[in-house]
Amino acid sequence: MGQRSVPFFNYPHVYKQYEEGLLGVVRDVAQRGAYILQRDLEAFEHNLARFTGARFALGVANGTDAIWLALRAAGIGTGDEVIFASHTYVATAASIHFVGATPVPVDCRADHMIDPAAVATAITSRTRAIMPTQLNGRTADMDALQAIADEHGLLIIEDAAQGLGSRFRGRAAGTFGLAGTISFYPAKVLGSFGDGGAILTNDEPLYDALYAMRDHGRNRHGDVIGWGLNSRLDNMQAAILDYKLQFYGEEMTRRRAIAAYYQAHLGDLPQVQLPPAPDSDPRHFDVYQNYELEAERRDELKAFLRERGIGTLIQWGGKAVHQIEALGIHASLPYTEHMFTRCLMLPMNTSLSDDDLAYVCATIREFYT
Ligand SMILES: *Cc1c(COP(=O)(O)O)cnc(C)c1O
Repeated sequence: MGQRSVPFFNYPHVYKQYEEGLLGVVRDVAQRGAYILQRDLEAFEHNLARFTGARFALGVANGTDAIWLALRAAGIGTGDEVIFASHTYVATAASIHFVGATPVPVDCRADHMIDPAAVATAITSRTRAIMPTQLNGRTADMDALQAIADEHGLLIIEDAAQGLGSRFRGRAAGTFGLAGTISFYPAKVLGSFGDGGAILTNDEPLYDALYAMRDHGRNRHGDVIGWGLNSRLDNMQAAILDYKLQFYGEEMTRRRAIAAYYQAHLGDLPQVQLPPAPDSDPRHFDVYQNYELEAERRDELKAFLRERGIGTLIQWGGKAVHQIEALGIHASLPYTEHMFTRCLMLPMNTSLSDDDLAYVCATIREFYT
């Protein structure tokens, strides 16, 4: 097989794929001059709620705002501790920090999701909430987390930035706890043309509070009912997202097919540990936001693939949150630390052809033989 170029992610493709339809959406919104809090946002929120099964969905400016707004509306603040998996984006911990609470990192396990046993161990008298990250398009073991939360009277607030469409025992990521948050960063499975985020909740008082908080404290009648600020999801972004949401089923199907392909063509290699295959556990429906494996001689493999035109990425720049020195969070998390010497993400997006996938797999096999 000759050399190919397989970039890790293909940003122009997310536009090219639906170019005609998207241009129609932009033209329609611009012609109406409908930029802030207009019907396209309402339609998207409605459709997002329906898609996830949440009672309410609220568009906000980005996935990070979604997390800290949800924490703040839930009443979490100074003196509280929130437990999260250190294998997450720094935004998860930063959101906890910025509401005044203490982020308490814990380990993940072989599927790279938060380890419920580690959560149980980390609970103190100040713990208020568990914040699982629904990482890589997979939902954590929510039965185990809910049992711990019930036993200790803790809230669950999910960082489902990477989890849209993923399910655990039929229930969508973002709908388990008091609230769940979504990011529409362009490289997310549902990506906007810039920043965007959403909060999901079944709790009406929480929804009402967040509704006002994201728009200068104003309720539906325009009355200021408390402190708020500006974290609105742009109506134009909402219109684009609403258009793309109708193709989300195809997107998930293709990603699952790519994961099945990687499984079939790399699953026998003893040097790599692949993420769970699409149908390996009937409780999980994974949407493969990322395809994160663990590999022996990871850095050599990465360089070998790069020389052959294949882009890969080590998540979070190669560090779990507790390993970022500037943040001063100290912990010893053996699985996470070992994993970060081995983890690597392969290309996973709908711009990949079957020939691209064959080339990626053949090149990895070549490296190990
Ligand atoms: C992308 C992401 C976020 C933040 O989303 P933004 O929209 O970029 O603010 C938070 N948590 C996780 C796990 C993410 O992957």
